[in-house]
Amino acid sequence: MSDADAAKERIRKACREVTTARPVYTEILKFYEAVFLAQEESKNHTNITRIDIPEDILAMKLAEKFPLVAAADFEIDIAASTHLLEELFEIAGASASADLQEAARLISESLGSGSMNPKDIFDLALGKDTSDKIPSGVSVDMAMLFGYNSIRPSLRLCSEHLSASLNAEEPWRTGYCPICGSSPGLSMLKGEGERSYLCSFCWHEWLTPRIYCPFCDNTDSSQLHYFFSDEEPEYRVDGCDRCSRYIKTIDLRKTSRTIVPVVEAIATLHLDMKAVPGNGTQ
Ligand SMILES: [Zn+2]
Ligand SMILES: [Zn+2]
Repeated sequence: MSDADAAKERIRKACREVTTARPVYTEILKFYEAVFLAQEESKNHTNITRIDIPEDILAMKLAEKFPLVAAADFEIDIAASTHLLEELFEIAGASASADLQEAARLISESLGSGSMNPKDIFDLALGKDTSDKIPSGVSVDMAMLFGYNSIRPSLRLCSEHLSASLNAEEPWRTGYCPICGSSPGLSMLKGEGERSYLCSFCWHEWLTPRIYCPFCDNTDSSQLHYFFSDEEPEYRVDGCDRCSRYIKTIDLRKTSRTIVPVVEAIATLHLDMKAVPGNGTQ
């Protein structure tokens, strides 16, 4: 089995296992499973130029713990991303969500009429302000969803190339991604309790101190709390009293399920609701 096929099989298995345990995710994961599978396939056909960081700049960035690139600097394979975007329109069109169907139709129409280029929607996902190009009736969040999911294979390839420049032995120990500077979207606990973060943008994983808030660098254990429920011991939400932010954590030691981080990011939306201030985060 090729790496891509193995990755797809893991996605299918992870989605199946989540929906068996929590049927409430069936509809949304049906959509995202198709998206993630299309992304794995697309990654196989994605070609990007390696980002070359001059040696002296690289040495300085590593010493100062500056991220290697900015999100806007990622190389994007426009042709492969455009092809994936078209597939996303089909997946959205077949979904149960009227909002997704409508957004796919409106964006596709704008591209067809030339009032918007695929690059506009990719640039939006890269943090450049092209929101004036979004057709009326489509929210920025919805346009981001299509743009980001189209360029995700390019982002991951870029991130994988760049990670070769990082010293894997030395934990990065910051609250931002060493590759692109974005905030973590998830954290994981494994082995002897080592903790790592997963970048919400390029999905790079980096090691971090266990008692630590990635949003305000707080290391005071009396101000850092987590909660979990007995029904889902593999999940916990780590919150910080100082900045009132939280991060979802997957404790890999407490589950035998197939864990695919990008699937978990969707399958833990109920934790975001519980973590809203005032909903009992303590
Ligand atoms: Zn990143
Ligand atoms: Zn904090």
